[in-house]
Formats: sequence, structure tokens, C-alpha cells
Amino acid sequence: MLHRLRDGAIPREVLAVCRRLEEAGHRAWVVGGCIRDLLMGRAVNDWDLATSALPGEVQRTFSRTIPTGIEHGTVTVLWKGEAYEVTTLRGEGEYTDGRRPDSVEFVHRIEDDLERRDFTVNAIAYDPLTDELVDPWGGLPDLEAKVIRAVRDPKLRFGEDGLRVLRAARFCGTLGFALEPETEAAIPGSLETFRKVSPERVHEEWKKALKKSDAPSAAFEVMRRTGILDVTCPDMAALDGDAWARTMARLDAAPADVELRLAALWVDVHAAPARVDAWLREIRASNQERKRVVHLASHAAVPSADALDAPQLRRWLRDVGREHVNDVLALGRADGLDVDALAARAEEELAAGVPLLPKELPIGGGDVMKALDVEPSRAVGDVLEHLLERVLDDPSLAERERLLALLPEAYRQVTQP
Ligand code: ATP
Ligand code: MG
Repeated sequence: MLHRLRDGAIPREVLAVCRRLEEAGHRAWVVGGCIRDLLMGRAVNDWDLATSALPGEVQRTFSRTIPTGIEHGTVTVLWKGEAYEVTTLRGEGEYTDGRRPDSVEFVHRIEDDLERRDFTVNAIAYDPLTDELVDPWGGLPDLEAKVIRAVRDPKLRFGEDGLRVLRAARFCGTLGFALEPETEAAIPGSLETFRKVSPERVHEEWKKALKKSDAPSAAFEVMRRTGILDVTCPDMAALDGDAWARTMARLDAAPADVELRLAALWVDVHAAPARVDAWLREIRASNQERKRVVHLASHAAVPSADALDAPQLRRWLRDVGREHVNDVLALGRADGLDVDALAARAEEELAAGVPLLPKELPIGGGDVMKALDVEPSRAVGDVLEHLLERVLDDPSLAERERLLALLPEAYRQVTQP
């Protein structure tokens, strides 16, 4: 059952923006993903409006606007603290590069604007002032049937913009829909166009596929069987059947955190950290994202609590790092492991405040230089590392006086040839 759009489904502020456009002599529709989500009863994250007004007219109608994508007809309207993307009705110009239309032509009819949209469920418009739904491509029946179907000829549409094949897979995951067979059949022949898509756009879709889904595996299953995954990440695509099944189960069970889920995807590849890092660079992940994913992917093997004595547990905590312990445990849980005993012991150790890094020791480089009367050198850092190892074996040593007493011996050890 689809939800109703009247009776308060459209927020008052969105209605007000539409009304203002209409009072200025134009028409306005709520369109695209937000109508799809409203009809499905899902939370809407951004409101997209289509209007007959030209971009300049939109700018003149509202006092606060940003020319976000004005060459494509998009003006962001700031209204009561919210931002709305208001896009002039447009058709799609010629595509010669499979990435972006060479030109944009504005059109007069909402039907002509809907025609350039990617999937039928994304090509529904609603005029909230007249309560009129415009659905020329059968988006409503496809929403009911939970189907992702290209608007018009899928081969043609995938050839215009290569990203659409990935969006098709992504929506299967985020919406829990199936891919209509003809739409799916058009993907393998469109992969050369997909190859030309900028890594930034691919990365954005991956993030949405991972973040917004209860079961992201549906998107990745489509990507794998159609060849999309082989273009973006051959390492993952090459996993054998068992490893792939494990990976998909882990992915769905992992918390909805993009970086954690990216790490979950890499676990069974057993790639060297440098390879994971290089791939994340290729898709233009941020430094922060890259560091966390590489670290989690390479520390995902959770040991059994029974197998670790106290010093080994502390060294495991040191290697994983305080801030990543919960994530690594979550990956273990996502693999169906019972990590409760390990989690309890880890929590106890961490609560006891055991130093895990040289800089967490109660003495620092200055103390070492002064006590031993040495100049700054590598040996100073080595001494602190050595003391940390001692403390990991026996945390009762983690006191200033005890560590100072250990300094001469530590220095001898690290400077020994
Ligand atoms: P989400 O909920 O993830 O934001 P969405 O459907 O709103 O999903 P957007 O990327 O925000 O997706 O795009 C808004 C609308 O613009 C889509 O619903 C679709 O109608 C249209 N659209 C977006 N990208 C494309 C594309 N590459 N080709 C054709 N139409 C597109
Ligand atoms: Mg959107």
C-alpha cells in the first residue's frame, strides 16, 4: 500500500516555497526521490522541487538563494533555515562522453522533465497545491511491485550516463527492490560507459549504498552479477562463492557505518593494507576515511578471549587502538562470533587505564634525557618503547618512580649492538 501525499505529508515550508513560485506566475512540483520516499512512507532527507520558472526568475522570487548548479537550472532556495533545490524543468541534451550532458535545454512540460530521470520510481512529480500526481512512466505500479526499471530504453539511458548502472544497484539495496530484467540485462553492455564515470561520483553512490541500507548486500549482489563490481573493485569481484557469501552476511550484519562496512567488504580479500589504501585513494576517499578503513580491514580478525593471556590481550588492544576496539568487536559480531568475553576483558583493561602508547606512559622523552643525561636521539624513543613493552607485561610498573628506576637498564638494552 502506498502512502497518501495529502493531509500534511508535504511540510508547510515546502508548500510555502511552491506557493510563492505560483504567486509569481510559475508552477512547482515536488519531484524525484522525495516523492518516492513519501509514497513508501520513508523519511525524506532532501526536498527537490521542479519549476517552470527560469533560474533567474527563481533567484528573483526569493530573497536568499545560492546558484548551486545554475548552468543545469538548479538554484538552492534558503527558506526558514532549510535549503531546497529548485530546478527549472529541463530535458536532457546530447551526451557524447557518457558522463554529463553537453548542454541543458529547458522545457515547458513536467512530463518532458520526468522523461530524463533515471528510474520510473524516481520519475514521479506531485503538485501539492492542486494535489495532482504526474506519473507518465508507471512509477506508482513499480513502487507497489518494488521494482527498479529504467525510464525508456535502458541501453540508451545507461549509455548517456554511465553512473546510472550503479544507481540501479544502489536503489535495489537502499529500497529493497528487485531490478527489472530488461533493465538488468542492459547493464553488462553499458560497462564501458560506466568505466568513464568520475571516481568521485562512484564513491558518492557507494557511500549511499552502504549508509542508507538495512541490507546493502542486495546492491552488491547486483553489482557482482552484472560486472559493475569488477570495474570498480576487481579484488572484491574475484572472491570465490563461499568468501563472497561470508562477506555479504558480514556486510548486512555490520552496523550502518560506511567505513566499517567498507572494511567488512575487504576482510575476505586478505589484501595487504597498501592495496586497500591504494584502492581508497583511487575512489577518492578522504584521508580520514582511508585511515580508518585500512586499519579496520587489517585488524578485523578477532582473537578468542581464551587464547590470550593478560599481556597478549593488552598487546592486542595496543595494535587495534583504543578508538577502534568497539568497531573491531562489531566486525567480529557481524561474523557471528561470540566476542562477549573478549569485550568484557577489553573493557576491564581499558577502564584500568593501562598505557597503550609511549606517550601515555607517566614519563616522557624529557624525563629520559634528563635522567640519563643524553641528547635527543632515536634511543630516547626506543627507551620509551621498551618501557611500554615492560608495562604491557606488568601494568603495576606504570608509575613514575618505578619507570625512572628502570631507565638505566632500558637504555642498556636499546643501545646494545
Ligand atoms: P536519495 O534518496 O539517495 O537522495 P534520490 O532519488 O533523491 O535518492 P538524487 O541523487 O538525490 O537521488 O537525485 C534526485 C533525483 O534526480 C532522482 O530521484 C532522479 O529523478 C534524478 N536523478 C539523479 N541522478 C540522476 C541520473 N544520473 N540520471 C537521471 N536522473 C537522475
Ligand atoms: Mg535526493
